[in-house]
Amino acid sequence: MQILTTKEALQQAVAASKQAGQTIGLVPTMGALHAGHASLVRRAVEENDVCFVSVFVNPTQFNNKEDLAKYPRDIERDAALLRSIGASYVFAPTPEEMYTEEEMNSTFSFDFNGLDQVMEGKMRPGHFNGVVQVVSRLFYLVQPDKAYFGEKDYQQLAIIHHMVERSSLSGTFGSLQIVGCPIVREESGLALSSRNERLSAAEKETALGISRTLFASLEWAKEPGASVKEVEHRVVDTINAIEGLEVEYYEIVDQATLLPTDTFEHAIGCVTVYCGPVRLIDNIRYA
Ligand code: AMP
Repeated sequence: MQILTTKEALQQAVAASKQAGQTIGLVPTMGALHAGHASLVRRAVEENDVCFVSVFVNPTQFNNKEDLAKYPRDIERDAALLRSIGASYVFAPTPEEMYTEEEMNSTFSFDFNGLDQVMEGKMRPGHFNGVVQVVSRLFYLVQPDKAYFGEKDYQQLAIIHHMVERSSLSGTFGSLQIVGCPIVREESGLALSSRNERLSAAEKETALGISRTLFASLEWAKEPGASVKEVEHRVVDTINAIEGLEVEYYEIVDQATLLPTDTFEHAIGCVTVYCGPVRLIDNIRYA
């Protein structure tokens, strides 16, 4: 496995792979890797001849400077994990390597057909612009056949699907296929997240209330006459009743449009909860 830190070295590695007729899988990450990331990388290794993993804490998708500063970073540990599961290349650039100063501060905005106006997009203005800025740059540099994203960040996955579908009209990313991968959880149910590293053991125990409530809500949804609004409120009230947790939003939306729905058919519930200062997200599909 090779660690690349410049766009030039990355493009040389990509060119060599393309010349050898190899298929390329790409897994974009922000590092502090865990078994959730590893599941994406394993799948990319299995399904492609070469697997590129990017490890880059993208400053343009953070609207909270403290969250950016405190984001865990450990490239040595990440590299050891990636080597052990068979990644071919790790791309770990500095922000200066990725962006010009102008790009770093740019306020350009993509059109997401409304997908960015709800939930995470509403709470974190500019977040998805930053995500698409970095992901489209990685697609351009790596020209992957397949790119892997977790359903843990469900709205992000929906937006990337949308971006690729739109651009495939103009052929920008060739025949790129976006592969969505299921959420990996601890045995306790807690969704794995790099941000869990910032939780104490006691806070982790508290955070379990999030997934427990989401799973319980699958049963609430089956109760005779249960409405989407009632289940939404019950989830919020149940989580907020746990000391140390505070819900930012819980929305049950259509899995494709991310718009509010009044049926559990094809619905997904997406939640953001503060556990102390740490912002955690999770989701659950109803049908
Ligand atoms: P991040 O490093 O948080 O930007 O995540 C990189 C990729 O890993 C994204 O596509 C995430 O959705 C995915 N991911 C993060 N946590 C999990 C998890 N627990 N299960 C599955 N995929 C995950």
